[in-house]
Amino acid sequence: MEKTIFSKIVNREIPSDIIYEDEHHLAFLDITPFEKGHTLVIPKKPYETIFDMPENEYNSLLIVVRKVAQNLKDKLGCDINLWQNNGEFSGQEVPHVHFHVVPRRERKKTYARDNDESYLGGEAGNYAKALYFN
Ligand code: AMP
Repeated sequence: MEKTIFSKIVNREIPSDIIYEDEHHLAFLDITPFEKGHTLVIPKKPYETIFDMPENEYNSLLIVVRKVAQNLKDKLGCDINLWQNNGEFSGQEVPHVHFHVVPRRERKKTYARDNDESYLGGEAGNYAKALYFN
């Protein structure tokens, strides 16, 4: 099976702004953030959807998701959305399980992704440095 872009991030074949890593999980900034600091949390193993994961691996992923969310909440002083898509019709674009951990500091009109923001030069790196934890 062809490698997903997220497996390439895990293997450091393409760059990303990592904020957390352990043996089985990685968290890095989404390149098109709904709000700046928007983070994706993935299992390193390339499961396509949550339904492909053994229950214990899904449970440990959820523990990491909450740690990452708590870290964003504490450091950015924000509220948090968790988003998670499974399958084409859900809006899943990358076929590798990921949770979106989304800081919310403002009331946007809709959840639509066409309200995404973008980082200015060097800004994503600064966010990653500020948000990094282990
Ligand atoms: P989904 O629609 O749930 O599959 O979300 C996929 C997310 O991956 C989108 O929010 C994209 O902005 C994000 N994304 C795609 N490529 C990259 C990348 N190279 N680095 C970081 N985020 C990415």
